[in-house]
This record gives sequence, structure tokens and C-alpha cells, in this order.
Amino acid sequence: MRYAPPIARLLEELERLPGIGPKSAQRIAYWLLTAETADAQRLADSIVEVKRTIHFCPVCFNFAEGDLCEVCADSRRDRTKVCVVEEPRDVVALDRTGEFYGTYHVLQGAISPIDGVGPERLRVRELIDRLSPGEITEVVIATNPNVEGETTALYLARLIKPLGIKVTRIASGLPVGGDLEYADEVTLGRALEGRRDVARD
Ligand SMILES: [Zn+2]
Repeated sequence: MRYAPPIARLLEELERLPGIGPKSAQRIAYWLLTAETADAQRLADSIVEVKRTIHFCPVCFNFAEGDLCEVCADSRRDRTKVCVVEEPRDVVALDRTGEFYGTYHVLQGAISPIDGVGPERLRVRELIDRLSPGEITEVVIATNPNVEGETTALYLARLIKPLGIKVTRIASGLPVGGDLEYADEVTLGRALEGRRDVARD
């Protein structure tokens, strides 16, 4: 049996989503087909709205609705510390710990030679630009505890330490090879608290 073309199209779109295989796509599509029209419309509207209203913060490259993201717009934040992360979702995970009151910088990825991702593909230049006015005294590197994250941390430390800025790396204790977003708040909080100077090599 072939799907009616509109259903086939929906399945095709759903299967492009991360973590959604053919079975999940079919389950979602069937749910939508039998759902109230208003429910399906709300979902469609929320997708369109998020694409229309959310952009990258021009300072830290987190997601933002206004001119600046919520963190950059918050005047109570300690602007002498910046925590470098790979993705916007890491900002959410780290901020939830309540252990860090500085600002963030989202690289939008990590260095991965295998995937052809070098520093020029990341927001590294923008980070260095943020450091030059001299207000920032500590850079906390909170990239993921996997090969790409460690490579990125080392690269950044080598780049930033000569500028006379303290560079720290969040403590180990996070599951190696994992993603920050999957660590619980207590573990992440401890990792932030136990951050150490990156040794000069
Ligand atoms: Zn921002």
C-alpha cells in the first residue's frame, strides 16, 4: 500500500528530524492525522513562530528573541567571566546549575578534523574579539568531554592564555564521551565549581 501523497510528504519531513526514524515518524504522523485540527495547527504555528522570531544573539550566539539573549541583556551578570560552550542547549544546562553568574559564548560546534570542521567554522574569532576590550578576566571552557570537545578546549587555551586571561576547564567527573546536556544539574554544578586552570604547555 502506498501512502497518499500528503501523508508521504509529512513522513518524509518528520524523518528528517534528529532522532526520528521511520517508525517514530509514522507514529507522529498518525497522531497528527487523528488529532484535533487546532492541536495540529498549534504545532505548525509554533514552528513558524520560532523560525520568525528567534535569531542568534550578536554578542554570544545563544538563541535570542530580543536584540540580545536573556543572559547578555541581564545587567546583574558578572561580565568578567565568560563560559564557552558548543551549543545553545549547553547554556540552558549550565545555567540551571546556579553555579555560574557570568556570561556565555556559544561556539556553534566543536573542532572536528574528521568532519572538516576547523576553528574558522566556529565563533572563535568573535570570542577573541570579545576578549580584546579587557573586561573579561576568566574564560571557562565547558566544551563536551569527548575528543572534539577536548581538542577545542586545548585550541582555545593556546589561543587565549597568551592574552594574559585566566583560562579554566570544567572539572572531569562528567561522563567521558558524553554531552553536557545529558549530565544532571548536581554533576554539572560540581564540574563548574571544580574548574581548574588549563596548564600551559
Ligand atoms: Zn547573548
